[in-house]
Amino acid sequence: MDFTESEHEAAFRAEVRAWLATVSEPRQPRAVPTNAIVAEWGPDEEREKIEAARRWQAAKFDAGWAGITWPRDIGGRGGTRTEGIVFSQEESKREVPRGELAVGLGWLGPMIDALGTDEQRARLLPPLLRGDEVWCQLFSEPGAGSDLAALATAAERDGSEWRITGQKVWTTFAHMSDWAVCLARTDPTVPKHRGITAFVLDMHQSAVECRPLRQMTGSANFNEVFLDGAVARDEDRIGEVGDGWRAAMVTFMHERTSGSGAELGVSQLVDLARGSGHGTDPVVRQRVARIYSQARVLEFSGYRMLTKLLQGGMPGPESSTAKLAFTRMSTDMNDLALTLQGPAGVLDGGDAPLEGGWQAYFLGMPGIRIGGGTDEIQRNIIGERVLGLPGEPRVDKEIPFEEVPR
Ligand SMILES: Cc1cc2nc3c(=O)[nH]c(=O)nc-3n(C[C@H](O)[C@H](O)[C@H](O)COP(=O)(O)OP(=O)(O)OC[C@H]3O[C@@H](n4cnc5c(N)ncnc54)[C@H](O)[C@@H]3O)c2cc1C
Repeated sequence: MDFTESEHEAAFRAEVRAWLATVSEPRQPRAVPTNAIVAEWGPDEEREKIEAARRWQAAKFDAGWAGITWPRDIGGRGGTRTEGIVFSQEESKREVPRGELAVGLGWLGPMIDALGTDEQRARLLPPLLRGDEVWCQLFSEPGAGSDLAALATAAERDGSEWRITGQKVWTTFAHMSDWAVCLARTDPTVPKHRGITAFVLDMHQSAVECRPLRQMTGSANFNEVFLDGAVARDEDRIGEVGDGWRAAMVTFMHERTSGSGAELGVSQLVDLARGSGHGTDPVVRQRVARIYSQARVLEFSGYRMLTKLLQGGMPGPESSTAKLAFTRMSTDMNDLALTLQGPAGVLDGGDAPLEGGWQAYFLGMPGIRIGGGTDEIQRNIIGERVLGLPGEPRVDKEIPFEEVPR
């Protein structure tokens, strides 16, 4: 496949650049890449960041630049995958919010677009896309993370409604969210992945309690969520009763592929190596060059996924390879950045070089390795589905991704 920019794409890029220049400033060239997982935000700063992200999303929506690849009937631009990538590339060069609304915009929205009814799409997706409503993902539980299908939160039918009771955990921005997609067990008598149903849940009801959990970055942006008979209307069920595993799989595919266009920070690392006076050190040169080549390999992995998307498919195990490559490269990059800062590497926040950007990235890195499926789980997927190695012994096997209808 040829990824050379076509005349049409170059014209689109020029149009995007021209619009972005009217509404935003260029990005500080030396700023370390950041996102909600790696940032050290207190509660007030977090609220401000979410509000800023909502304002930016609304500005894009009102000007016709939100959801480049989303269908027009739900407020998107109806553009191509390539146009979506071009827009993200140009947006990443500007000082604008990024990533704070990713759970809704990047993962749950596309899942609802794929699996929701026309009525659900029309009702739920335009306010999500405009940033008017913030969404979270109530999937993981204390006993169900890597083995998500073991989830125990139960939903019982009550006329035209469902009552949901149980505990979720690690729910990013639950305390700021208006809506959630919640996975709950509706049939405990069938194999575990077949007894799960996906519901849209109003997060403002009193039967939903969020308790933020503090991470080692200093932020407390994910939560324990307690559900005590929380109500979901049957018309807010996504897909059939017992078919929630499909919603989970489609969400994960979007989650694992959404980082493929992420800004990596390699140029900032090279700047740091040059400026630190260690640029002539042969060991530093070796390490920087290795990280650079890891980043280029990651780019190729992104092209493979893009090829599949452009052909109308969804990346399967390729997304696991990309996530693993990304976490390996980012970990190496953080280690080197802090080494290059010497004794200043142990400082924090405003006392540290570059406003503590590399320190925050370093502390947030384990979260990136765990969220969306840990490194070990990605390796299991690659071992079983790409390399054909014997699978783990499991009493209750999940449906292979290839068999999940989309
Ligand atoms: C920053 C962040 C944001 C998150 N946001 C959300 C969110 O918004 N919503 C949500 O629902 N969840 C969220 N999560 C939860 C995330 O999906 C889980 O943490 C993840 O799936 C791992 O589950 P666990 O924490 O229960 O660890 P466990 O599954 O208990 O794993 C513990 C350790 O055992 C290893 N392990 C487990 N099973 C195997 C196996 N079969 N083979 C080899 N090793 C294994 C794991 O790799 C890990 O090292 C988030 C997590 C993080 C870190």
